Amino acid sequence: LVRVRGLRKVFGEGDAAAVVLRGVDLDLSRGEMATLLGPSGSGKSTLLTILGTLLRPSEGLHHMLGQDLSTASDAERTRFRNKHIGFVFQFHHLLPDLTALENVMMPAATSRGKETASMRSRAAELLDAVGLSDRRDYRPAALSGGQRQRVAVARSLMNEPPLVLADEPTGNLDRHSADQVMALLDQINRDTGTCFLISTHDEHIAKHCRRHIELLDGALV
Ligand code: ATP
Ligand code: MG
Repeated sequence: LVRVRGLRKVFGEGDAAAVVLRGVDLDLSRGEMATLLGPSGSGKSTLLTILGTLLRPSEGLHHMLGQDLSTASDAERTRFRNKHIGFVFQFHHLLPDLTALENVMMPAATSRGKETASMRSRAAELLDAVGLSDRRDYRPAALSGGQRQRVAVARSLMNEPPLVLADEPTGNLDRHSADQVMALLDQINRDTGTCFLISTHDEHIAKHCRRHIELLDGALV
């Protein structure tokens, strides 16, 4: 699904240059569920941001679904991202003025223009799958932290992406809600074969995953 070779990321120039990723090689297969571990500042978010085509690497190969994203234009990368990659962040980034259902529909509305009845029914099914069918018309402010994160998970799946990148999706949750969100990701992974790459500091959270990828000072160990 994903192939990365010799990936480097340098921020700044000259004396101020900081090498944040120093030659990362990584393959992700369809259906995989992996954690990205490593101390604060080791480069986890930077790597996820590059894999999500939100940031370009300084050097190295980045292929996904056989497409070379390292040399693709910005427009091609954006189109690819909207179609094939889902995101879940530590802070849910739900739009406060939209209901849960409308938030879940956002990725489809963004990539396909205006909303349709089939988008609404897919979003409703996803909210059902994350256990929030009774919260469809609630705005984020009226949801608990765990519920907001489950809406964010539903949203990440709206376009049926083969890859979902999650940057500390449970970092803001208590242990119980964190376990619920992780159990949900595990269930979705088993049911749909969606590949998840999940960064976390929490060893307990990592237990939900079958593969562990560890970054130390910008290199995989
Ligand atoms: P955490 O666990 O705290 O979230 P992380 O592993 O996600 O850490 P990154 O956010 O990837 O770490 O940051 C890795 C390093 O890259 C840090 O030293 C950070 O200061 C640096 N860095 C990240 N973004 C930039 C930027 N835009 N400009 C300069 N340096 C940056
Ligand atoms: Mg981070």
